[in-house]
Amino acid sequence: MKFVLDSHTHTVASGHAYSTVLEMARAAADAGLELMCITDHAPGMEGTTNRDYFANARVIDRELFGVHLMVGAELNIMDTQGTVDLDEPMLQKLDLAIASLHTKCIAPGGDAEGYTHALVTAMQSPYVNIIGHPDDGRYPLDYPTLVRAAGEHGVLLEVNNSSLTPGCFRVNAPVHCAEMLRLCKKEGVPVVVGSDAHFVSFVGNHQYAQALFEELDFPEELVMNRDAAAFRAFVEAHRNRAK
Ligand SMILES: [Zn+2]
Ligand SMILES: [Zn+2]
Repeated sequence: MKFVLDSHTHTVASGHAYSTVLEMARAAADAGLELMCITDHAPGMEGTTNRDYFANARVIDRELFGVHLMVGAELNIMDTQGTVDLDEPMLQKLDLAIASLHTKCIAPGGDAEGYTHALVTAMQSPYVNIIGHPDDGRYPLDYPTLVRAAGEHGVLLEVNNSSLTPGCFRVNAPVHCAEMLRLCKKEGVPVVVGSDAHFVSFVGNHQYAQALFEELDFPEELVMNRDAAAFRAFVEAHRNRAK
């Protein structure tokens, strides 16, 4: 299967990433991608950019070097109520959003009930399209509930290639990701692979996700990275719930 899109990347605006929008787009073109999402960390994370960066995102060309760009944000889930750190009028201006649990914004060490409730509540926003790296052992999750909710709400669960890379700081991510994928396969719930690139070299890098798909004999039709138009339509369908 050819991966034609990368749903999760960061630029220098995120504060701990190192490439510009132009450099990332060039890298996406070099990697043969048709579409790349730029999803810088939202303002709740210490050291990232500010609200105005997202408010002004319309000025970025959506086509660079032959690659379609979707410009959004990686939101921080701030509490177990699923509160995110950009409001709906702001999210409406973006092309898509990922929502994720990060240690700078929500304390690890809680129970699966609380974190699962946070993610499922976040999915109810029409502007949350992807749940980022739901694979970190520091944030235990009730995967059957998470997968069912993603299917019901039309939200994609992310297979994060950085999480699957040996040495990643997230805890036991390959084991948790595999558990999630087995349930997605059983329930017919689609997923999307994001590189979570913080530098040009990682754009479009999906190798560990691909290996896991092969190991689990995961159905190709449930991987949104094979069709850019279908991915955009999936995101749009969820956003249209706001209308
Ligand atoms: Zn980051
Ligand atoms: Zn993240």
